[in-house]
Amino acid sequence: MTTHLVWFRTDLRVHDNLALTAACRQPNARVLALYIATPEQWRQHQMAPRQAAFLVSHLNALQQTLAARGIPLLVQTAETFADCVTVIQALCEAHNVSALFYNYQYEINERQRDVAVERALSDVICQGFDDSVLLAPGSVTTGNHEMYKVFTPFKNAFLRRLREDLPECHRAPAMRQSGALSVPNSPVIVDYPQQPFDAERFPADEQSALTRLRDFCQHGLARYDADRDFPAIDGTSRLSPCLTLGVLSPRQCLHRLLKTHPEALNGGTGAVWLSELIWREFYRHLITRYPELCKHKPFIGWTDNVQWKTPDAAFTAWQNGNTGFPIVDAAMRQLNATGWMHNRLRMIVASFLVKDLLIDWREGERYFMSQLIDGDLAANNGGWQWAASTGTDAAPYFRIFNPTTQGEKFDKAGEFIRHWIPELSAVPAASIHTPWQWVEKANIRLDYPHPIVDHKRAREATLAAYDAARKGT
Ligand code: FAD
Repeated sequence: MTTHLVWFRTDLRVHDNLALTAACRQPNARVLALYIATPEQWRQHQMAPRQAAFLVSHLNALQQTLAARGIPLLVQTAETFADCVTVIQALCEAHNVSALFYNYQYEINERQRDVAVERALSDVICQGFDDSVLLAPGSVTTGNHEMYKVFTPFKNAFLRRLREDLPECHRAPAMRQSGALSVPNSPVIVDYPQQPFDAERFPADEQSALTRLRDFCQHGLARYDADRDFPAIDGTSRLSPCLTLGVLSPRQCLHRLLKTHPEALNGGTGAVWLSELIWREFYRHLITRYPELCKHKPFIGWTDNVQWKTPDAAFTAWQNGNTGFPIVDAAMRQLNATGWMHNRLRMIVASFLVKDLLIDWREGERYFMSQLIDGDLAANNGGWQWAASTGTDAAPYFRIFNPTTQGEKFDKAGEFIRHWIPELSAVPAASIHTPWQWVEKANIRLDYPHPIVDHKRAREATLAAYDAARKGT
């Protein structure tokens, strides 16, 4: 009997999993599943302990759902990506594997690892799939077959493709009748620091993720456009951790969206949410076309000449939510306490670190990865380069967020701020974004810092630094 091996990576689900579907197509093949934990690699990339806990929770859930279909999931550990080759080779030999199925990852190290695996398995048929995207990287290009460098034309071309040919969604494989392999199904143990995550906020298994997606499309989308920028409102899907680890596929999101809002493909309700899903695709297509982004190179070369300040006490204040700017601090405290941050706030705190503190965006990118439950190289790098004006489709460097007016605009009454900064609970609404002024006027002591920078002066210094870098002076 022939044995098929499915190598799970960032696709921890049984529904609509292209590699799993292909491996199960032949009814009389035995199917074995594998996940390789690489804690050393995670350490190097500072994977957040909350993301590690989320991953382990989903691996355990996946083991159960696969077992119920007659597919055992083996979890092994490899020190490095190079060791993955040895692990897979040994497994293929031990189980006489005839074919390996896996879904592509687009980060450069992962791509190189996969090439090495395919090379080493000369007697095994290897098949990869573009599973974590709606459209394969490289398939949405300009008339000159170039990758788009600006989001809006990319999105328009992307939508045209979707309207012509919607990617299919696949069912989970049925219970396999034959050839169960005797592999023990024991709880998954991974030697990496883990920090509990809030399972109410972030679905801990595939079925809960599907339920969250269905509920959001049914009840959340109607108000998404109006609410999505206000962090005090629970107005977005909070599905990013599931999309990052592939507990949900973007095709499932698209099909569920179109079921409730078929007009989304043509600009109707749901179009803005679809647009967010396309941002996710944009950044994945970009890192595939420009692999140097995975090595944290800026897309706009001259920005590497900006004279960044050394991360010192100001960086620590930013990390800990003690900058004296309430919206920035509330956001950083949300990140540190939950592993997640609202999108509007990610833009605000990223802008503050780079444009007010003049600290290298890569420091912020790294810190985000060390905390985020949805940490994803492509989206995180894209978001940071956008905020730092170093990337494709970046905000021009002279456009700098004012942290006070951003707070006034998106958390007017200070509801979100008060939730995360109890020290400010006594500050009246009119002063919640400028507590330092209230403290002076009322002659009161607050256990909350004064602003660590003067925004106006910091803005001028940043403009000068970018200007000098651009002119090469
Ligand atoms: P929703 O608003 O419900 O959007 C649906 C999905 O679309 C999200 O789950 C996500 O997969 C995708 N999406 C939404 N906005 C973006 C975007 N701007 N770029 C790419 N994909 C998007 N997202 C991550 O998944 N991982 C990261 O590490 C990450 N780092 C970021 C860093 C910075 C500096 C910035 C500005 C943004 C970052 N984002 C990242 C994008 C975005 O903030 C999150 O995807 C979003 O906040 C997740 O919340 P949600 O699931 O409720 O999103």
